[in-house]
Amino acid sequence: PPFPIQLEGAVQHGFGRGGKDLGCPTANLPDEALPAMSEVTQTGVYYGYARVYPPKDADKELKEEDVKVLPMVMSLGWNPFYKNERLTAEVHIMHDFASDFYGYYLKALVLGYIRPELDYISREALIEDIETDKKVALNSLSRPAYEKFQADPFFQS
Ligand code: ADP
Ligand code: MG
Repeated sequence: PPFPIQLEGAVQHGFGRGGKDLGCPTANLPDEALPAMSEVTQTGVYYGYARVYPPKDADKELKEEDVKVLPMVMSLGWNPFYKNERLTAEVHIMHDFASDFYGYYLKALVLGYIRPELDYISREALIEDIETDKKVALNSLSRPAYEKFQADPFFQS
């Protein structure tokens, strides 16, 4: 089985395409992180855990709760900016952060697939589906077999 899949890299700026106004900011992983997803190239929504690593000289913008291993949903899609020839992975962490963390190192452990990419007739339909994704992710992650991944050695360095 392909899971768990380890992804990591410094958080990039995206196109600011409404992540925050949809109540769902997504931290973009760099292209170098993507080859790890090549076993499961299905586009769509995945779930797992993620952790943000502030640089040593960070001015304490993030709080202690912000740097724990946290549940996440991740969208994997073809990037229209690169004529749909490149995949992008965007991670929404289910946590209210004290500040943004652009440039910070991010690790994501992908544990499963939720659904393919869908076209939405309305913004409301999209927001509703994102809420469903988050519930599905939290339900799956609450199983003991998945909870153990929160303590995975991958996050300990
Ligand atoms: P962009 O297009 O630059 O990715 P977004 O609106 O998607 O803009 O916001 C993403 C940024 O928001 C992340 O890079 C991160 O710094 C910040 N952020 C704040 N809270 C979260 C969160 N819960 N999950 C992911 N990113 C978050
Ligand atoms: Mg984003």
